[in-house]
Amino acid sequence: MTEIASLFPRWASTWGELARTNALARSQCRCCGMQQRVDLSLQALRFGANGSPIDLRDKCMVVGCHGSVFYMASRTYGRQWIAMTSHGDPRKDSALAVNAISLNLGSPKKA
Ligand SMILES: [Zn+2]
Repeated sequence: MTEIASLFPRWASTWGELARTNALARSQCRCCGMQQRVDLSLQALRFGANGSPIDLRDKCMVVGCHGSVFYMASRTYGRQWIAMTSHGDPRKDSALAVNAISLNLGSPKKA
């Protein structure tokens, strides 16, 4: 395990550990702020089970956005989301988070 990885809990150290422990992961775009759920099994296939989300910069998947995302992980529902970056919290200098809740799409509306 690298020195940087040792700063993070073991369950969050690799895509394989995140998947094995049924943790939760999200991506957030630095540019447009869009948050998306991350499929841990797919990430383990893409980057290998020993691949790490820490400091991984992946491209944003939102149409028209050329930003890059960072990853966040949480042990389970209702727990704190840990930014998987070794140099400060990118949420402080990125676009505000955009998701179904912020867009007021969280629950179906009655007609
Ligand atoms: Zn984006």
